[in-house]
Amino acid sequence: MLEAYHDELLSCTGCGFCKKSYYAYEFCQKESDYPKGKIMIAYGLLTKEIGEDENVIRALQKCTLCKRCEKDCPSKVKIADIIKSARYELKGLLPEHKKLIKNYEEKRNIFGEENFKKEGNEKIAFFMGCLINKELKDIVISLFDKLGLDISIISQCCGYPIEKIGRKIEKIELDYEKIVVACPNCMLSLKEYNPVHISQFILSLDPKFKKTGKNYIYHDSSFLGRYLNIYDEPRKIIGSIGNLMEFNENKEMARQCGGEIEFRVAFEKEADEMAKYIVKEAKEKNATIVTSSPHCYSHLKEYGAIDLLQLIEENLAL
Ligand code: SF4
Repeated sequence: MLEAYHDELLSCTGCGFCKKSYYAYEFCQKESDYPKGKIMIAYGLLTKEIGEDENVIRALQKCTLCKRCEKDCPSKVKIADIIKSARYELKGLLPEHKKLIKNYEEKRNIFGEENFKKEGNEKIAFFMGCLINKELKDIVISLFDKLGLDISIISQCCGYPIEKIGRKIEKIELDYEKIVVACPNCMLSLKEYNPVHISQFILSLDPKFKKTGKNYIYHDSSFLGRYLNIYDEPRKIIGSIGNLMEFNENKEMARQCGGEIEFRVAFEKEADEMAKYIVKEAKEKNATIVTSSPHCYSHLKEYGAIDLLQLIEENLAL
C-alpha cells in the first residue's frame, strides 16, 4: 500500500540527485522520466491531488526498479519500493503488460509458451523460470548432464515480472530440499525456499574449468546485485576461465542494461539506449559481456553477450 510510504515520500527533498545517472540517456526529456518526478506522481496519487491517466501509468511503469538511482540519493529514499507500491494503486495497464499477464494467467509462462519439466532427483530441483526456458533450456540440460547430476528441472513463470508491474501473483508450491536458480527474478520470488544461485551451486561442487584466455566483462544484474547482494561468486567463476574485467560502474553502482522483460516489452527504445551504453564500454575494453540473469542475456545477446550458464557449460573440464 502506498499509504505505508507516506513518511518515506515526505523524506524526498526534491534535490534531484537521483537524476544523475539518467543524464547519460537521451530518452529522459521530462521530469516524469526521472525518479524524482515519479516520486512526485506517487505523492500526488496518495494525496489524490492527481488522478490516474495514461501519462501517469506510463511514467510509473517506465522504470526497471533497479535501485541504481537510490545510490545517488542523499536522503536514502526507497525509490523503487515507492514506485512499485504506486503501481499497485493503478487500475490501468499498458497493453504490453496486459499481454504478459494474460499469458501468465493462462499458461504460467509470460510468453505463452510451453513449460519444460524433467523429473529427476526428488530432493533437488533447478527452477528454470520462463526466460531460461525460452533462451537457455538446452544449455541447462547439457550442463547438468555434464555434471552427472540427474536433478529435476521445472520451468514456469515465477511471477516476479508480474509483481513488478503491480499485480498479485499466485504462490508457487515446491517440495524439494534444495532449489537452484539462475534467474534473479526467480530467486526473489522463491525466497521463502532459500534458493541457491547457480554460481553458488557450481562453486560448491569445486569444478575445474578450461582456460580460454579471453577477456570477459561482468555485467551485474541489478536484481542479483543490489537486491540479492550476490557479486563475488559469478566473478570467481569467470576469473577461473578467462580474464575478468570490470565496468567503470560495477557491483553496487552497476548500471541497469534495460533487460528486465516487463520494462523492455513496453519501452523498447529506452531499453536499447540503456543496453548500448554498456555495450560501448565493453567494446572499448575489447571484452565479451557475461551476464548472470536471463533478462540481461536475452537483451544483450545481439551484442555478443553470453550468460554465465553458457560460459560454465562450455568450459567445464571433465
Ligand atoms: S535524490 Fe532522493 S531526495 Fe533527492 S529528489 Fe531524488 S528521491 Fe528525492
